[in-house]
Amino acid sequence: MSDCLFCGIVDGKIKANIVHQSERIVAFKDITPKAPVHILIIPRKHVAKVLDIEADDAALIGEIFQVAGRLAREHGIADSGFRVVVNSGADAGQTVFHLHYHLLGGRQMGWPPG
Ligand code: AMP
Ligand code: ZN
Repeated sequence: MSDCLFCGIVDGKIKANIVHQSERIVAFKDITPKAPVHILIIPRKHVAKVLDIEADDAALIGEIFQVAGRLAREHGIADSGFRVVVNSGADAGQTVFHLHYHLLGGRQMGWPPG
């Protein structure tokens, strides 16, 4: 989508600190980190939100979680623990409407999330 910020990052039109790229997935550091490790993992293809995930996307979503685990190991938070979070819709605080998985770690987290 031409007016989508994260499509712009996928296309290289908008700069980002990219930490992983593969055929279907891109991951980059969050511009306003909420934890010592805060990485966003996104599909290259534009999917706006959780509600738009289709049956054909099942393998893609599985791959995103595999990448999350790999990045957690690479960034030293696999043993200490981490969160993978998706905000969907207004009450959850979604601000960018291109599906993204927050990988957060490196500090003690509260529960339930605020
Ligand atoms: P959400 O509130 O779940 O939609 O998360 C959107 C996330 O994108 C926020 O954590 C922002 O800090 C992050 N973000 C916004 N613009 C950029 C950008 N240009 N590069 C990296 N992260 C960004
Ligand atoms: Zn997009």
